[in-house]
Amino acid sequence: MSTTGSRTVRVADVVTLLDRRYPPAWAEHWDRVGLVLGEPSAPVRRVACVVDCVPETVSEALAAGADMIVAHHPLLLRGVSSVAPTTYKGRIIHQLIKNDVALYVAHTNADVANPGVSDALAVRLGLTDLRPLHPSAPGSPSEGQGRGLGRIGRLPQPMTLAEFTQHTGQALPATSWGVRAAGDSNRMVSTVAVSGGAGESFLSDAISAGVDVYLTADLRHHIASEHIADGGPALLDAAHWATERPWLDELSAHLRDSLGVPTLVSDLDTDPWTVHVAPLASPEDTMNKEPRL
Ligand SMILES: [Zn+2]
Repeated sequence: MSTTGSRTVRVADVVTLLDRRYPPAWAEHWDRVGLVLGEPSAPVRRVACVVDCVPETVSEALAAGADMIVAHHPLLLRGVSSVAPTTYKGRIIHQLIKNDVALYVAHTNADVANPGVSDALAVRLGLTDLRPLHPSAPGSPSEGQGRGLGRIGRLPQPMTLAEFTQHTGQALPATSWGVRAAGDSNRMVSTVAVSGGAGESFLSDAISAGVDVYLTADLRHHIASEHIADGGPALLDAAHWATERPWLDELSAHLRDSLGVPTLVSDLDTDPWTVHVAPLASPEDTMNKEPRL
């Protein structure tokens, strides 16, 4: 059992700490964050930090003796009328409650925070001089203090898009999806925008900021191709999970430093895309074309 000084750490202590760092009022109106289940008075011996609360990460948390899970994605985002254990999510909820494991979610409120999810992604890539890609709107609860969605930063030295794609592939945790790029592979890049998770809606912010390249996840064909045809910044598309996983280290360090509670950071890749086949180039292709990124 973890203690702060002589005091037992309880679920309520973790909730108070994280609600202060990631106030629920900072979340988007459609989002569902905060304590999902768990007795506030229950002791916490270990906290598992995960991107997704799925059966695999719950099993991992249980095996590690965690009695609280902090997840990035909400388990319950839309209305439910049943948590019967015969349903996918109901089974997860039953497993958590039966094992006295609490669940807490910090999602878009952790995205806009400073430091937040995209800071961890930017730091992982070695970016400096960070500022928000989409600053929190004036009058919104999260306004000011460098808060907002996504981050813009600078690379220590310019590199080609091909080199930056390689660099990103090595810096992020490995997934089947990997990293793919759109744009001229020889284009020099030094100013980079990043947005952990699905960041397609911030393409216009990346254009108006004049960055050289924008890294996010879940970019769609027509949006990406029209953006490139319009002369917009080069694009990097990574696995959604891989862009948010770096934040778990920062979250876990904060929990350990503030409460002295042991943590587990899940490296279980919860990206749904698990098979990747690179096309076999014909000999003519190899001779006549630039290497694929
Ligand atoms: Zn996400």
